[in-house]
Amino acid sequence: MSRRFATKLLHEAFEPDKATGATTSSICQTAAYAQETAEDMAKIFSGRKPGFVYTRVGNPTLATFERRIAALEEGIGALSFASGMAAVSMSIMNIVSAGDEIAASGSLFGGTSSLFRELSSYGIHVRYAEETTPEAFAACLTEKTKLFYTETIGNPKLDVADIGALAELAHANGVPLFVDNTVATPYLVRPIALGADVVIHSTSKAINGNGNSVGGIVVAGKFPWNAEKFPKLAEFAAFGPMSYLARLSGRMRTDFGSTLSPFNAYLTGIGLDTLALRMECASENAMALARCCAGKESVKVNYPGLPGSPWHELARRQFAGRYGTMLTLSLGSRERAFRFINHLTIALNVSNIGDARTLVIHPSSTIFLHADGAEKARAGVTDDLVRVSVGIEDKDDLLEDFGMALEKA
Ligand SMILES: *Cc1c(COP(=O)(O)O)cnc(C)c1O
Repeated sequence: MSRRFATKLLHEAFEPDKATGATTSSICQTAAYAQETAEDMAKIFSGRKPGFVYTRVGNPTLATFERRIAALEEGIGALSFASGMAAVSMSIMNIVSAGDEIAASGSLFGGTSSLFRELSSYGIHVRYAEETTPEAFAACLTEKTKLFYTETIGNPKLDVADIGALAELAHANGVPLFVDNTVATPYLVRPIALGADVVIHSTSKAINGNGNSVGGIVVAGKFPWNAEKFPKLAEFAAFGPMSYLARLSGRMRTDFGSTLSPFNAYLTGIGLDTLALRMECASENAMALARCCAGKESVKVNYPGLPGSPWHELARRQFAGRYGTMLTLSLGSRERAFRFINHLTIALNVSNIGDARTLVIHPSSTIFLHADGAEKARAGVTDDLVRVSVGIEDKDDLLEDFGMALEKA
């Protein structure tokens, strides 16, 4: 019997604790683990016996959280990190070396494009696709391309990537497709099921949902890694399809020390329980808010759920009739955008997304403060733009609050 999403979310890859019957994940708040004998310790260190030695390398609370996300994203395994940016950077550094190239969507989260600028100092060059389409990615391909990188729904451009088509192009050229699925969440789409090879989340956002911890996770699919094209994985070839995750754990997380705290994994796991409920409600609220604002004068609404969005058709097909929790408003000028934000009484002025509360921000003066003109243009960040991450408040209160703030702005 194949279970539906909300049931899988609560019951797959997790069982009450065998020893105590506890129904929530235990928090293994320890730095290290004692072994009975020197022989046992040696076996665990050399991988001949399962077990834990030190939390930077592995921790049972993290392992529980990772199994749950891997099941939801339909991957073969997952590895958690201290933040979404740690997940993004480690997932990439795991397979690229100086001289390699990345073909990437132009409309990336500000932190990711900032990281990509930093990577150039390590000799890793990113070519940006003019648009998030297979044609534009094809134009970025060279002999040196090691991976395709996109977001399911670009933040804050809200363009939608055709995962199946990008995966096909990537695979025809022997490279994996990496998808940051933070904004869409597995509730809207499971990219691996559509052909993606590595899925990344900032779990600080909708997966947690309560904004109480920063975290990240990388989920792997079954890409046929070959040691010629990806020499860094040669040492882990014995792990077969798991070689990517084996290196990510053994080299990246362990050597760079970007491990998630067990307590944050525990809190995020609790938030995860209600992902389906929150995404359904917030998506419905976002649609209502987008429609309501679109009916007003002197504001332009960007939401994949509106028929006027260039990505509406693709979103409808790929997300099975739901359109997510993010929208943006163009208000004509920076001054009006500021006035609008200041007049809102329910929405919080906050830099993150995916919270149970409705959040707004002016990206140009904040998250994209240090981005250059080209970067802002690629990401669709204009000076009059307000990004809205819709929460699960009562719909009519949100409509009233936004209506009032638009009038007063
Ligand atoms: C927030 C975010 C990140 C970075 O995650 P942190 O947990 O803040 O480090 C990466 N990608 C997207 C799409 C995000 O929204």
